Amino acid sequence: MMRKAVNGRALRRLLERAAPATSSTAGSRGFASTARTTGAIAAPLARRAPLASRAPAPPRAGSLLPAASLASIARSARSASTFLAEYDAHVAERAAQNIAPKPLDAKQVAALCEQLESPPAGDEAVLMDLFENRVPPGVDEAAYVKASWLAAIVEGKARSPLVDAAKAVRILGTMQGGYNIAPLVQALDDPALGPLAADQLTGTLLVFDAFHDVEAKAKAGNEHATRVMRSWADAEWFTRRPPVPEKITVTVFKVTGETNTDDLSPAPDAWSRPDIPLHALAMLKNPRDGIHDAPAQIEELKTKGFPLAYVGDVVGTGSSRKSATNSVLWFMGDDIPNVPNKRTGGVCVGGKIAPIFFNTMEDSGALPLEMDVTNMNMGDVVEIYPYQGVAKRHGSGEELCRFSLKTDVLLDEVQAGGRINLIIGRGLTSRARESLGLPASDVFRLPSNPPGSGSKGFTLAQKMVGKACGVDGGILPGTYCEPKMTTVGSQDTTGPMTRDELKDLACLGFSSDLVMQSFCHTAAYPKPVDVVTHHTLPDFIRNRGGVSLRPGDGVIHSWLNRMLLPDTVGTGGDSHTRFPIGISFPAGSGLVAFGAATGVIPLDMPESVLVRFKGTMQPGITLRDLVHAIPYYAIKEGHLTVAKQGKKNIFSGRILEIEGLSHLKCEQAFELSDASAERSAAGCTIKLDKEPIAEYLRSNIIMLKWMIDQGYGDRRTLERRIAGMEAWLADPKLLEADPDAEYAAVIEIDMDQIKEPILCAPNDPDDARLLSEVTGDKVDEVFIGSCMTNIGHFRAAGKLLKEFDGQLPTRLWVAPPTKMDEAQLTAEGYYSVYGSVGARTEMPGCSLCMGNQARVAEKSTVVSTSTRNFPNRLGKGANVYLASAELAAVSAILGRLPTPAEYLEYAGKLDATASDTYRYLNFDELPQYVESADKVTMEDEAYAGLGPAMREQLLKVAREKKAAKAAA
Ligand code: SF4
Repeated sequence: MMRKAVNGRALRRLLERAAPATSSTAGSRGFASTARTTGAIAAPLARRAPLASRAPAPPRAGSLLPAASLASIARSARSASTFLAEYDAHVAERAAQNIAPKPLDAKQVAALCEQLESPPAGDEAVLMDLFENRVPPGVDEAAYVKASWLAAIVEGKARSPLVDAAKAVRILGTMQGGYNIAPLVQALDDPALGPLAADQLTGTLLVFDAFHDVEAKAKAGNEHATRVMRSWADAEWFTRRPPVPEKITVTVFKVTGETNTDDLSPAPDAWSRPDIPLHALAMLKNPRDGIHDAPAQIEELKTKGFPLAYVGDVVGTGSSRKSATNSVLWFMGDDIPNVPNKRTGGVCVGGKIAPIFFNTMEDSGALPLEMDVTNMNMGDVVEIYPYQGVAKRHGSGEELCRFSLKTDVLLDEVQAGGRINLIIGRGLTSRARESLGLPASDVFRLPSNPPGSGSKGFTLAQKMVGKACGVDGGILPGTYCEPKMTTVGSQDTTGPMTRDELKDLACLGFSSDLVMQSFCHTAAYPKPVDVVTHHTLPDFIRNRGGVSLRPGDGVIHSWLNRMLLPDTVGTGGDSHTRFPIGISFPAGSGLVAFGAATGVIPLDMPESVLVRFKGTMQPGITLRDLVHAIPYYAIKEGHLTVAKQGKKNIFSGRILEIEGLSHLKCEQAFELSDASAERSAAGCTIKLDKEPIAEYLRSNIIMLKWMIDQGYGDRRTLERRIAGMEAWLADPKLLEADPDAEYAAVIEIDMDQIKEPILCAPNDPDDARLLSEVTGDKVDEVFIGSCMTNIGHFRAAGKLLKEFDGQLPTRLWVAPPTKMDEAQLTAEGYYSVYGSVGARTEMPGCSLCMGNQARVAEKSTVVSTSTRNFPNRLGKGANVYLASAELAAVSAILGRLPTPAEYLEYAGKLDATASDTYRYLNFDELPQYVESADKVTMEDEAYAGLGPAMREQLLKVAREKKAAKAAA
């Protein structure tokens, strides 16, 4: 078989001649950041630049193929002379693992394009198949090369015997958005290709700013553009797709008990998450009741001839990882035409489905259904009637259960290919109708908002979300809304998936005001694939206007919290994205990407549960004990059960709102909000006084300026956030819950009654017990670290350890949350204390917490300050108690859980120096940070988003500072 070589010069020529034909449809900050209660996606289309002004590609500094990259791709393509042979070898290697080959990368697509220009005889079909079906869509680098070459074919700058101009237009139409849009829009002007280009655009949703180019052409009399506008207005992109059938017949893949996201996407396999088929092999890899070899069992069930449905008692508890959804859909979903290694659709049935998992399923085009699964067993064939709300046994027609959809809009979401598609598409339709002077479309099922509740007030969360939607007052539970995402966080095990989703969304600039990326989960013990992420993801984020941390900096939340603005709303691809000020609704990577790209997310406003603390904290009792007091009291009051079957959890899917501790520092408040993830709460608010927030912001302004001085970027984003903090400090106001706000439940916790520590027993963060109930249990290992800790905890542990003479009887792991904590603890001599007792100090970051890096010994008993103790998370078969840093340190010294009296004796020793121990990192009081911050001069542009009066006031102060600096 003859195979043609591709040389670097040829590729460079190819890209040079192709580039002018492509353009970005979403330039810097090319999406809306305006929030509204409905139709949020329509506004992005309002900001535009004429098509001509946005060509040629690459469109901006952040484009995926800057000149240096082009040269480097060209260089690497020299080695692509045996492209198909190498690809065949890759296919064989993957086939040996029983998985699909990887999608083609930019270098391979470049090689492929060269071969398509002069295809070796006999290879034509395989080359075309690869080109049409194995290149990722959106703004992937490979998509750029593909779209560039197709554009060159359309313009006659390149030729292929296999792809003529018409076929090139057709293939461009399968690329979903991003680099394919500009050549399609241009082709509307071509008399021969115009009708074809119009056909492609009518089914394309990710057009963003290019909407206005089509609109302008339509208004100028272009008949093809007019047809596109009409089609968008009529929602043909939606109506052409098949509706959800009346009856769905599925074979049950039953996983009894609770499936958490760690079961579906195990942390030790986090490195393979972006490779969906490979990662799916790890789904349910730990044997459990009825599951011994999930992939093989799935294959066998498929022989019954029906699609499978994932069925469980409780499904999707735990983290926000989209990889869990990806794995389920990989086995139980449907291929997406022309999109390699991604699936959509599928049915997931749970007695209870965790809210974030439910949403991620919705985003992915699956149909999540909550119903009684008692009568469904592994291998049963079941008929689901989604419109009637009934499930029957196939063949006999026996009724198994009745159910109702969470909302009828689910049916539209599935028809659209997912909730994100539906939101974007609805926006496009409404924009087109507006442009054509048509009334609102009646094609879609609209989210139904609850009737107002008369004189009832709003909770703090309802007011925060109301503010983010630009609504006076608040947003009532059950209301569909699209709050503005002021802050978005992304960590490194979900980051690569978020990056892929951003590419799929054709995002070249963030609309969220601040997007931050961390590397806390993989920095300490990176796999080769993590190292690649460390090298590539920072630029990807910064080029879109985001802020990127560096490996070794520390835990996402300990940084992100320091970038927050009071009373604002955000999200993050880590289930512990729980703000101590403002509110966050953590989500899967698809929704996080959507929030970052568009600046809003869809939200069905959840109900709230109020936890009100009263009384006084007793001696020896820590904030961590109050964290555990929440499940402890909820169990006592019948709001929460530990058993999985028929589990009760009042917090699940609701917002946990906490009052009665308003004097807490923000670092302390985060311990409470962080742990709302373990309650499966949708979000958390904490009523705080103004003073601790002002103290936090003053410190954080110095930290952000220090970051700028240290070369962190994107600088403009950091400056904008500093300006936002200065504005709040200049006029400090906080929202407050109305006295007559309604809650699904109110739980009162009397701190006078809590006289001994509360732990969470192995291996369930809901299983809260008093220390006296578990006293004496032998302890093998102790972990002090995770986002649940702050510098005070490490000083407290250090002071207790300092009193200990010799080597500890336990293995003690110490991992501070950030490098600034590490530096301060080192300066204060605590690291020498840890060393002297034989503690193992780890790089700042997540360390043991997620279980994907270092792990505790198998079957050991552990006391940990980390967030959750799901089975096998910290170590295989390990029994993990969750406890305060103070109790953890005492356990490390004794080698067992102490009695309450023993513990209180140790705790008493800390009392004398408590004000020194529990000092937080106030950067504005630390000379090295202040000196660094002083070097930074703010640009006037940073204040542009503020109101005119505030802008003038702050600019005046900034100018005075500048003048003083110059004079000095
Ligand atoms: S420390 Fe643990 S809970 Fe916190 S972000 Fe890291 S892995 Fe997640």
